[in-house]
Amino acid sequence: MDLATPVADISPLGKRLAKKLKRLNIETARDLLFYFPFRYDDFRRLIKIGEIFSAMPKNPASPMEIIGTVRGRVELIANKRSKYRRTNLTEAIVADDTGSIRVIWFNQPWLGKILKIGDRVALAGKIGLDRYGVQMISPVYEKDTGAAMHTGRLVPVYSLTQGLTEKQLRTVLTAARPGLAEVNEWLPDEVIAGNKLMALRRAVQLVHWPEDEGSLESAKRRLKFEELFLAQVQVAQARAEVRSSRAASIPFHEAETRALVAALPFQLTADQKVAAWKILKDMQSDVPMNRLLEGDVGSGKTVVAALAMYNCALHGFQSVIMAPTEILAEQHFQTICRLLCPHGVKVALVTGSTAKISWEVVPRDKKADQPVKKADRRGKKSDKISPAMVRQTASGGEAQIIIGTHALIQKGMRFHNLGLAVVDEQHRFGVDQRRGLKEKSGHPDFSPHFLSMTATPIPRSVALTLYGDLDLTQIRQMPLGRKKIITKIVDQMSRPAANEFVRQQVAAGRQVFVICPLIDPSDKLGVKSATAEAQRLKEDVFKNLHVALLHGRMKAKVKEKIMREFLNREHDILVSTSVIEVGVDVPNAGVMIIEGAERFGLAQLHQFRGRVGRSIHQSYCLLFTDSASPLTLARLEIFVKARDGFELAEKDLQLRGAGELFGTEQSGLPDFRIARLDDLELIESAKTAAGEIVDKDAALEQYPRLKEKLAEWGRQVHLE
Ligand code: ADP
Ligand code: MG
Repeated sequence: MDLATPVADISPLGKRLAKKLKRLNIETARDLLFYFPFRYDDFRRLIKIGEIFSAMPKNPASPMEIIGTVRGRVELIANKRSKYRRTNLTEAIVADDTGSIRVIWFNQPWLGKILKIGDRVALAGKIGLDRYGVQMISPVYEKDTGAAMHTGRLVPVYSLTQGLTEKQLRTVLTAARPGLAEVNEWLPDEVIAGNKLMALRRAVQLVHWPEDEGSLESAKRRLKFEELFLAQVQVAQARAEVRSSRAASIPFHEAETRALVAALPFQLTADQKVAAWKILKDMQSDVPMNRLLEGDVGSGKTVVAALAMYNCALHGFQSVIMAPTEILAEQHFQTICRLLCPHGVKVALVTGSTAKISWEVVPRDKKADQPVKKADRRGKKSDKISPAMVRQTASGGEAQIIIGTHALIQKGMRFHNLGLAVVDEQHRFGVDQRRGLKEKSGHPDFSPHFLSMTATPIPRSVALTLYGDLDLTQIRQMPLGRKKIITKIVDQMSRPAANEFVRQQVAAGRQVFVICPLIDPSDKLGVKSATAEAQRLKEDVFKNLHVALLHGRMKAKVKEKIMREFLNREHDILVSTSVIEVGVDVPNAGVMIIEGAERFGLAQLHQFRGRVGRSIHQSYCLLFTDSASPLTLARLEIFVKARDGFELAEKDLQLRGAGELFGTEQSGLPDFRIARLDDLELIESAKTAAGEIVDKDAALEQYPRLKEKLAEWGRQVHLE
């Protein structure tokens, strides 16, 4: 057996579990060994039955129980059916040489067959004391063979998937243990020494088979460090690449910019002004800008980007905006046209299915296109414009701003004098996208300036880890005059009233979003829960309303179609999963309903809420939860009161860790296996170590193993 051995070939159990393990992305022995536990049960305390009584807490206020492992012989075991509760009880008496203990399991009738009188067993869990004596309820059990796996030690606990048990997982993992011999170090020696890190093989061994707390902590630290380090190497490389390339310097056209700002129908907020100023200053430099503009949905990022693009146009350079969906690209086209066309800027749109321009053109090359009559001034629908024609206006230099989807970086697209690239709702440009744009920019020695925009509030530590190569600007102020979205937690009792409220809102002409959580871990795209909810609403609750469904397994085209229909008010209610991207402006949507609200991070809830409240009507956000836990309700209360996404993101990071922050699927954040993004100290050390390596050898020529690991990790986490 080696690390590449498929789980099905590791053991007969492996064969049986292969399908289920695959759902956890475990396919080989290596995957098993690198599937880390998320916590440990401390069952190390071995206790003689006769000593339990005196070991109980002396404080009368604390519960009469201790946690540990008991080893003994099964004296008696029997199944019983309890009539009124319809439960199946298995009762046993287990004895060692000091006494005996009563043991009860619920609804595991097969236990009577597995454990026989006379068997030696080890039992772990809570050991309680009541007036009938000492007892264990539903303890973990295993045949006592001397090599304890599920009892008598620090027992690792793993996340599972339906139909898979902790015991099964631990058992196949143990079968894969010989693979450890092949786990080799890849961190450079100087990094290991400089940060006092445990060797990889030993660390992997200890997370699954811990010896004591101290060495377990060191093992975890090592494994966390390496993930953070990889992220930081990637960031350092990206920064090195940007720093070493040159961009066209775009001067600030002050008079024209002021005139444009004065002509806006509103006053810019102070944050918008600062952001615009920073961006314009960046673009004056001949080092390419690499900036991330963060601001809540509706905070007005587009107009800030527009000011930058306007300055480019004035200096004879083109800009592009890349949006994640066609609808969003179209909305940008409309907004940018409204802002800049009156000032003579020529704007073009090209996506997979549409093409528009904001001015009149005569194609130069008749062959490439159908005859053209007159294009529409303000980007209203015009069938006369073809994508080929828009491409021509881009390569010929007529178009000054080109807006689109990924179509912009695909083949066939060329630019004339590209000075600025803006990417919306994507956090950052990937290395490939950056290179692609540079090649198409019309002057291959120069790199365009890059501006990313996102509504995801990113806490400082996360920004440091993942976006350390980007300069960060935040817009925290909302434009004046926005109505506060009324947010309420709705308990199950008030559901009928809430339904009635939804009916009233729809009758008044509003539309409603319903977001469903991912319930089944094997259903990462939320297909099941959203489908079930849409059906329930359609068939039972809102029979007379138009209910539509959107989920992650649908093709992009289908999603766009449904979103467009919703935008055109063909549906009253849109049920979707959290996987569906944000950013599309549906001004008529007035109610956001979030099912299973306790399952979402605060920052994520905030993003959902941001999808309503764009119009003059009062908007509402209703949170449904089945949880009665005071902690959960307190957390949701924080959300109800708060309006600032950044604050919520920081809170979330403290409360739940970064993995839960935005829902990794959606955010493009890497799914760290073990690292936590709230460990600033470790992040700093990883950053320093990565910086030193990359400063010395950016291409990692001297570190082939690190280079290989980086490529592998990049594929795994889709950081770009
Ligand atoms: P986002 O940051 O979510 O991309 P947008 O740029 O789409 O936000 O702006 C949302 C809306 O707010 C737009 O209709 C825009 O015209 C408007 N807006 C932007 N800035 C201001 C402002 N300072 N005052 C009032 N309205 C503004
Ligand atoms: Mg936007």
